[in-house]
Amino acid sequence: MAAERSTGIRKRTWRVFSMIKEPTGTAKKIEDGNYFVVHEHHARHLHYDLRLERDGVLKSWAVPKGIPESFGEKHLAVAVEDHPLAYRTFEGTIPEGEYGAGTVRIWDKGRYTTLHWDDEKIEIVFYGQRLNGHYVLVRFKRAGKSEWLVFKASE
Ligand code: MN
Repeated sequence: MAAERSTGIRKRTWRVFSMIKEPTGTAKKIEDGNYFVVHEHHARHLHYDLRLERDGVLKSWAVPKGIPESFGEKHLAVAVEDHPLAYRTFEGTIPEGEYGAGTVRIWDKGRYTTLHWDDEKIEIVFYGQRLNGHYVLVRFKRAGKSEWLVFKASE
C-alpha cells in the first residue's frame, strides 16, 4: 500500500490526478476527466441540469427539483441530448428565442467515479462541493422513455 502511494505521488509530476479519501477511509485515484457539473438553469421554469463527462461528451439530464442532497428523496431526471465537453464550465445568459433561453449558473461541480453504468442504471460517487457520496440514476419506465429517477444511495 505504501509503495503504491509513493508511486502515485511520483506520477503526479507528469500526470494530474487527485487522491481522494472515500468514506470508507481508503484512498482512491480519480483519473483525468470524469468531471460533472450541475447547472442551475433559470429558464421558463427553474430546473437543474446534471451533466456527467463520459465518452467525450456530457451526458445530460434536466432535473426539475435538483439533485437530492439527502438520503430518502427520489427526484425525476429527464435525459436530454448530450452536450459538448466545453459546456462544463459555461455560465451566462442564453438569449431570448434560443433553446434554453435564460441564465445558467454552476450549482456544483467536481469529479465522480463510476461504480456501474448501463442503459438502465447508473451508480456513481460524487466528489463535489455540495454533492458527495454514492448516487443512483435508474430508469423510470412507467413515466416515459427519457425519464429517470436520481437519488442518494445511502446516508
Ligand atoms: Mn436546462
